[in-house]
Amino acid sequence: EEVGYFEDLALSDDVLDALWDMRFEKCTPVQGRCIPHILEGRDLIGIAQTGTGKTAAYLLPMLSLLQNEPHAEDAVNCLIMAPTRELAQQIDQALQGFAYYTHTNGVAVYGGNDGIRFEQERKAFAKGADIIVATPGRLISHLQLGNLDLSRTTHLILDEADRMLDMGFFDDIKTIIKELPQERQTILFSATMPAPILALARATLNRPVNIRAEGADAQATVPDITQFVYQAHDLDKPEVVARIAQARDASKVMVFCRTKRAAQRLADELQERGFPATAIHGDLNQIARERSLKKFRAGTVRILVATDVAARGIDVTGISHVINYECPDTDSTYVHRIGRTGELRGEQQRRQHRQRSIAGDSR
Ligand code: AMP
Repeated sequence: EEVGYFEDLALSDDVLDALWDMRFEKCTPVQGRCIPHILEGRDLIGIAQTGTGKTAAYLLPMLSLLQNEPHAEDAVNCLIMAPTRELAQQIDQALQGFAYYTHTNGVAVYGGNDGIRFEQERKAFAKGADIIVATPGRLISHLQLGNLDLSRTTHLILDEADRMLDMGFFDDIKTIIKELPQERQTILFSATMPAPILALARATLNRPVNIRAEGADAQATVPDITQFVYQAHDLDKPEVVARIAQARDASKVMVFCRTKRAAQRLADELQERGFPATAIHGDLNQIARERSLKKFRAGTVRILVATDVAARGIDVTGISHVINYECPDTDSTYVHRIGRTGELRGEQQRRQHRQRSIAGDSR
């Protein structure tokens, strides 16, 4: 498929200037196919996972639309929903970059247990926000307190809809959608399309265009990932992880567990065996998680043990190995996990990335 250039799309000049600064020239296939439809105001279903460039595929046309079309100055014009605070933060960061020259005012709204942040979010709404990036639970809290009005929000984006479903946010999403006007543009991105997502799309989208990223499908995985299965008893599994992590090409190893306890236990066990490992999961506070991520990103610690929930949306490039320490519950979780490696890194840097699975737990 022909890959186009951003310059050839009807994006606003201010958005193109930001892309120029960021050295984004060529569209990814998903971007090339989604952007023209979104600019036309169509509803859209994008079947694409992290690494396909899906975030820019909706942010760039959305920013251009908000600049070019008449819209209320004092309304929240666009709402972007993400399943986790890490993804919300990542979208917000991308937004800040793309919106640099547009004077668009974006506010990120995500969990965190402190009242200070909640109050900051409330004040930001009061001052006016063009775009809100939010996790479902947090947005509902604000809605219930009357901090925010979505009755004039004409653009809605649901990112990683399948993860929202997996994480039990579906009722929240439906509640939120009811706050928006019927007349709006709705865009839904999901790595997989299980039946409840299709049903939601049918109920909430209006004659959507369907765009499928190459290879995006419940069974499909990223093409340049080599997958291995190791059989091991539960007690031997930490040893297998340690051996994989010893390989010379194992520069950044991400290990997935299903529970917070299992993740912490494995990280501790690897540490005891002399393999520096760090963990991210829901029992750690935001500061501890960011500290773990920083070490892993910098390469001072080569092994990161994570739960699916905590790992969702975090942006770490150059992951050499993904280990499925415990089997995921759903196809989509598997696709998301292994999608952490083999991500888009510019063609020159494209290397062979490996992914390994350890089978043999009792499932
Ligand atoms: P995403 O799939 O949206 O999570 O994007 C994956 C990564 O690719 C992010 O780090 C983006 O900054 C980067 N990216 C997205 N689109 C492009 C592009 N057209 N050119 C270069 N990098 C891109």
